[in-house]
Amino acid sequence: MQIEFPSSFLWGAALSSYQCEGGNYNTDWYLWEKEQNLRNCRLACDHYRLFDKDFQLANQLNLKALRFSIEWARMCPDPSGFYDKELEHYTLVLESLTGNNLKPIVTLHHFTNPLWFMGKGGWLESKNIDYFLDYLKKVVTALKERVDTWLIFNEPLVYIYNGFISGIWPPGVRSLSDARKVLANMLEAYCLGYHEIQQIYKDTSCKPKISLAKHIRVFSGCPGMNCAFNSFSAFVRNKVFNFRMLEQLKSKHVLDFIALNYYCRDYSEFKGIIGKDCSHSFHKERKNQLGWNIYPQGLYEVLIKLKNFQLPVIITENGTAEIEEPYYEEYLLGHLRAMAKAYSAGVDLVGYLWWSLLDNFEWDKGFAPRFGLLDVDYKNMSRKIKPFAYTYAKIARENRIEI
Ligand code: BGC
Repeated sequence: MQIEFPSSFLWGAALSSYQCEGGNYNTDWYLWEKEQNLRNCRLACDHYRLFDKDFQLANQLNLKALRFSIEWARMCPDPSGFYDKELEHYTLVLESLTGNNLKPIVTLHHFTNPLWFMGKGGWLESKNIDYFLDYLKKVVTALKERVDTWLIFNEPLVYIYNGFISGIWPPGVRSLSDARKVLANMLEAYCLGYHEIQQIYKDTSCKPKISLAKHIRVFSGCPGMNCAFNSFSAFVRNKVFNFRMLEQLKSKHVLDFIALNYYCRDYSEFKGIIGKDCSHSFHKERKNQLGWNIYPQGLYEVLIKLKNFQLPVIITENGTAEIEEPYYEEYLLGHLRAMAKAYSAGVDLVGYLWWSLLDNFEWDKGFAPRFGLLDVDYKNMSRKIKPFAYTYAKIARENRIEI
């Protein structure tokens, strides 16, 4: 059976500034890489210089939307500054997107922070929220004529988990009470930011669409002796990590659409209220290069649950890193079919963005995982379209998928 999408459907790809641009030396991540002796991001994929070429390739692949992020540390090199040269840069980025028929979806915070902000205590201090709002106001005011869809944050819970619970990302803290403070501050910043953006567009004819990118994993209980208890811990994890934040924002009327980042499924076992991850010891599904359990049906399950929110949904990230090429295509088709099934079951889906347009810097994992539609040769920064990207381009052109 063929599922046909409306002509307005946004087939696209996503990327983030720090992972692609290169030269973002004033961020907490850059310092962290040095301190931890990690693989340095340095020039990343040199997208800061090559963005126009990258968008031309996206256009060749029939894409219609491109999600990118603005680097706060570039725009605001110090607490009160706003760098016009960088504003010009992002204006050119937006012009290039429009010129290549790509609708921009813009993220304001994708995991990285200016060094000066972290020096003042970063997200742990509620008084610092104003610094972020100041940046948000300046950027949105300057770019409002070119952008109507904003993501204030990318995956706050992932940022908080890695930075303040497991401590594997900057600032490398391991404290539940700090994690709680950061969550409260980020949610506060989100709500205030939402109203600021609405205010900025008040006198224009455009109604902005505002959200945050929410990472959702399917959690299932580990099988075995305690499987009933394990299923309970999976249920709790689903509630706490997947849907609670969205419910809170919806009830405050500060969510215009749902921006879903979906990759895989995790297994949990009963240990304390929240349970413990046991995905690595359990091999039911195929695992990708990073050991993630690939579970396309999960995308369908999540989308059906999101229907309850009665909001439009954009899949703002979905993708994989593989060693062998055929698995990319298998992943893509499996997830697009799951999405199409959810669409035909009435989910208000308006777009699908593959993570990522380019192979790029995968945080603590360095450059080895390659998520891109475009292969990057880091020796000379040349790009090559990967075979599975042609399959995606065909689907985007025909606007339909066989399920
Ligand atoms: C993040 C990206 C990251 C991707 C793959 C997402 O959760 O937003 O920055 O590269 O996952 O790990």
